[in-house]
Amino acid sequence: MKIKNFTCLQCGAADFERREGTRVACAYCHSLYEVPEKYFANLGNVIINKGAKVTFGKHSDVIINGSLEIESGAAVEFLGKITLLEKSSDETIEIAKKKLKRISEEN
Ligand SMILES: [Zn+2]
Repeated sequence: MKIKNFTCLQCGAADFERREGTRVACAYCHSLYEVPEKYFANLGNVIINKGAKVTFGKHSDVIINGSLEIESGAAVEFLGKITLLEKSSDETIEIAKKKLKRISEEN
């Protein structure tokens, strides 16, 4: 899953795996983050179309029972807080960074 406007603070990856509760782990270096419930993209059916500009404010309370699809080109800002719970080892982060670099070079 992707979290709009949030990349892993450790390795810069934009891909996360859902863990228990409101936790997600970086798909590359496995650093663990606690994110607000409203960030989860696979629970509802809200689609934010290309060209839309949506801001979820600091105190917004957004509950989506379906999927949240954000088309590329839509500007969506999350102002809530994401907390890093568990930092991966520096070695794992380095490997993840190298992996990411390789992917971006291939594209
Ligand atoms: Zn990472």
